[in-house]
Amino acid sequence: MRRIDLKKASVARANTIRDINRQIVLNYVRELGPISRAEIARETALQRSTVSLIVDELIAHALIEEVTGESSGGRPPSLLSLRTVDAVAIGVDLGTIKTVVATSDLAGRVLNQEQFLTDPDAESTTQKIVECALRLMRTNGGTIEGIGISFPGWVDPETAHSYAPHFKWRDLPIAETLTQATALPVTIDNDANAAALAELWFGRPEIREVRDFILVLVEAGLGTGIVFDGQVYRGEGGTAGEFGHMTIGSGAPVACAAGSTECWEAFASERAALARYKKATRQNGNSDIDFTKLVDLAVRGEGSARAALKTTARYLGIGIANLIQGLAPETVIVGGPIVRAWSIIEQDLKSSVEASICRGLPSTPIIGSTLGAQPTLRGALSLVLASKFASVA
Ligand SMILES: [Zn+2]
Repeated sequence: MRRIDLKKASVARANTIRDINRQIVLNYVRELGPISRAEIARETALQRSTVSLIVDELIAHALIEEVTGESSGGRPPSLLSLRTVDAVAIGVDLGTIKTVVATSDLAGRVLNQEQFLTDPDAESTTQKIVECALRLMRTNGGTIEGIGISFPGWVDPETAHSYAPHFKWRDLPIAETLTQATALPVTIDNDANAAALAELWFGRPEIREVRDFILVLVEAGLGTGIVFDGQVYRGEGGTAGEFGHMTIGSGAPVACAAGSTECWEAFASERAALARYKKATRQNGNSDIDFTKLVDLAVRGEGSARAALKTTARYLGIGIANLIQGLAPETVIVGGPIVRAWSIIEQDLKSSVEASICRGLPSTPIIGSTLGAQPTLRGALSLVLASKFASVA
């Protein structure tokens, strides 16, 4: 039961109910389309005439379109589905190594993408993002409605204060610069929060039906996106979810972004796995590899690479057990390139979680990201797309 916030509450206008019904119909089409007007009326218990009015409005706003269904003898039925002919969003996945700028349709499918190595010089990276966005806008002839940025650090959506520990970028005016250059609305959020939003809206159905989950994003650093009651929990100043800096032990193989060797990130990130592999293989002169190559080696069965990932998975499990004990989510999702090695790490991860849970709590499902290889890019796109489908109440 949510307490009413009298400072933010607005009393129901006559339009409020219509807006709520409109979003419900739109979400039925999104989840169950192609679907007929009659089916929507049956599912929602709205009157047929009300459904038809709403459908006309959604078609006029280019959110849904009419498609022809399979004929079962007579005239083929007219069905409704999400309109996916145009690119409507640009997503900017600003990563610590590379930056990907891509377009997607309303269903979140990636259409075109460009990428470049992220320059530690903030102005140069911002300039390249602007150039990519303008190019993608030109090739799409005015259909793009907004830009979302997945940012490798914390961001306060209210004040635009931000910090990216990897680059030591503070209060980078990237959203303002992009807004001025493109004249489009720009939304920016932390990478793990954005990926959690994408799981919530565009993940596989087993995740879309979950209201409380935690996404653990394993990359060069380690972050979490917390979803409570169907929305991302941001905390004061947008800094919630920094569990990568909870203390797990001492003497980690690398330091966290803030210089500590006691944080979860220092034990369970990609950098930790690489450091373990390099330590084990230094004698072989085989230490100059990145995380993609480490996963490739492990998938091919190389013993040291598998061992480095399995040890990292056990530390991942210790942190996840702490999150489960403190927050009791319905599901924990692990995202990032490590998911490609899921069959190698799954057992170590799960047995480590079980061994670290003290309170006899029921076991929580732990799954690999349902978004494929680019969870933070999908996150950036979701920052634009989710607002179209979100509840208005
Ligand atoms: Zn730390």
